[in-house]
Amino acid sequence: MSKKIQIGKIAIGGGERIAVQSMTNTPTSNAQATLEQIYALAERGCDIVRSSVPDMASAKAFKTICEKSPIPVVADIHFDYKLAIAAIENGAAKVRINPGNLGGESKLRAVADCLKAHRVPVRVGVNGGSLDKKYASLPAAEAMCESALEYCSLLEKYGVDDIVVSVKSSCVKDMVDCNRLLSKRCDYPLHLGVTEAGLYMQGLVKSAIGIGSLLLDGIGDTIRVSLTDDPVKEVDSACEILKAVNMYGKPYAEIISCPTCARTEIDVKGLAEKVREYTSGVNKNLQIAVMGCIVNGIGESAHCDIGVAGGKEKTALFKDGKIIRTVPNDKLMQALLEEIDKL
Ligand code: SF4
Repeated sequence: MSKKIQIGKIAIGGGERIAVQSMTNTPTSNAQATLEQIYALAERGCDIVRSSVPDMASAKAFKTICEKSPIPVVADIHFDYKLAIAAIENGAAKVRINPGNLGGESKLRAVADCLKAHRVPVRVGVNGGSLDKKYASLPAAEAMCESALEYCSLLEKYGVDDIVVSVKSSCVKDMVDCNRLLSKRCDYPLHLGVTEAGLYMQGLVKSAIGIGSLLLDGIGDTIRVSLTDDPVKEVDSACEILKAVNMYGKPYAEIISCPTCARTEIDVKGLAEKVREYTSGVNKNLQIAVMGCIVNGIGESAHCDIGVAGGKEKTALFKDGKIIRTVPNDKLMQALLEEIDKL
């Protein structure tokens, strides 16, 4: 099992719930705009948020952001160790650095000392696109793994061992292979993600395969879906991936709906969408089936808390596999919502 690390109020690793992360894309120097995005992300289920800190104006605004954010804020730092120190002093719950690009060991040591003094953990990030040339002869997954472990040992040398490791690649297979290697060679929590995954649909599919296959193997402690899109979609996608592998860890309503076919008697899509919207904030685990016909619908909805299986003019509502009500199709939506209210 991985080591447990505390990121502000959220613990990751050590068997804790898989934490969902995303990243703001507003200018961090604009604290108000960044906070508005963080509120939207937190509302959708984001546990930890990261913001780039590219300059001192951003590091200054980062203080306000950390003070007002409802979720822990991670500072993403490249090149300038002074920015890392400023972000830690200004309230970062974690800093994400690439120890290889901070300008040498004395600067890394200064960051390490600051991390220890403020008891702030660090994420060591290795990206397949910016690997050290000395690993060029190795296959990509091994190269990223060796590079990440080297960065960990550099930090350990200066007494830092509250470390989260991420190795990211835009190639799903490299990312999966590398995390499998890493999980055997260190017990630091692993942050999973396919980087530069692309626009919404491509990014979602690549992330679901990469992150999902590792989670099913018991590898990974926190996830980020990277999309060239609104970060709110990253959080929605991450939550869906966790639900699909039964690792969401919070109560929710699962809507089971058939794909529809020539037998379909009711508006399955409209009903399923309405039920999803109606149950979006429920605080208990529910399974609700919306099936288009009686042929396969009854059996497929038998294990659900409530289900409908469409009929020509009237539709049956099922509970635990038994018919509890039959209603005309034009009253179906209302009847289903009434039954959901009783659950
Ligand atoms: S449940 Fe009925 S309508 Fe839906 S896909 Fe199956 S056979 Fe078709």
